[in-house]
Amino acid sequence: MGLMDGKIVLIFGLANKNSIAWGITQRLHAEGATILLSYAGEIMEKRVMPLAKEIGCEFVEPCDVTQDTDLDAIFEKVKERYGKLDVLVHSVAFAQREDLGGRFVDISRDGFKLALDISAYSLIAMSKRAEPLMSAGSSIMSLTYYAAEKVMPKYHVMAVAKAALETITRYLANDLGPKGIRVNAISAGPIKTLAAAGVPGFRMMLKYAEKAAPLRHLVSQDDVGNAALYLASDLSTNVTGEVLHVDAGYHILGLTMTEEELAGIE
Ligand code: NAD
Repeated sequence: MGLMDGKIVLIFGLANKNSIAWGITQRLHAEGATILLSYAGEIMEKRVMPLAKEIGCEFVEPCDVTQDTDLDAIFEKVKERYGKLDVLVHSVAFAQREDLGGRFVDISRDGFKLALDISAYSLIAMSKRAEPLMSAGSSIMSLTYYAAEKVMPKYHVMAVAKAALETITRYLANDLGPKGIRVNAISAGPIKTLAAAGVPGFRMMLKYAEKAAPLRHLVSQDDVGNAALYLASDLSTNVTGEVLHVDAGYHILGLTMTEEELAGIE
């Protein structure tokens, strides 16, 4: 008996084995969920197909989340083949390299629109299509980052997108709550992935997070997978509109310097 037996889970944002979405996929699959996967573009298809095979996934569909027709098609296929959806996982983000780093004031209008469209609006677009397939007890979740709350170096347009995503989470939770659908976000600490490689100075951020976080640990895809299991399952009944930090405690710090670094200043 698994916590996710009989549950249909649709996951957006799997790129490769390092993806946070892969940590979530594996954890929910291990608890008995039927996993449905989507990918963006031909390059991703080649990477995602072997992973799908590894877990015996029979639903692997293309979807560029900026395209309403793609979104319509994938949710229609879920309806045709399964007739319902229990869990929706949004693990998607994108920004142009020039809008990460440099100066914040230089973010372009087009770059802003693109990052917000892919990384934030898409959660609304997905939820609208998921709602008719969902019943009481269903769960929607997305992935966010601490840069939505506090200024982090170089995160720039993605920080704005994550702030939007967290606000969208609360408004969706309120909108869909009367139907018993829960909407939450996981704020993960830095993890080495394809998307993270696009953030200038990410390696430094990783090192610093490990040094400064109260638990003195980096977060893994498996850690996020465990949190996702909590949010996807009945373990989190009556939890909605929440941003759950899985960051070894980094977000509670007012001063992120270690005691040794502070001693060096004195
Ligand atoms: P990743 O590169 O493995 O995943 C990002 C995914 O977004 C990819 O699968 C990519 O194909 C998809 N994507 C981009 N544009 C798309 C589009 N137009 N249509 C459909 N899919 C598209 O990287 P990841 O780090 O696993 O990122 C997953 C989520 O976790 C993102 O929302 C990211 O911001 C968030 N997050 C990451 C970290 C980190 O340190 N890695 C920390 C906190 C939050």
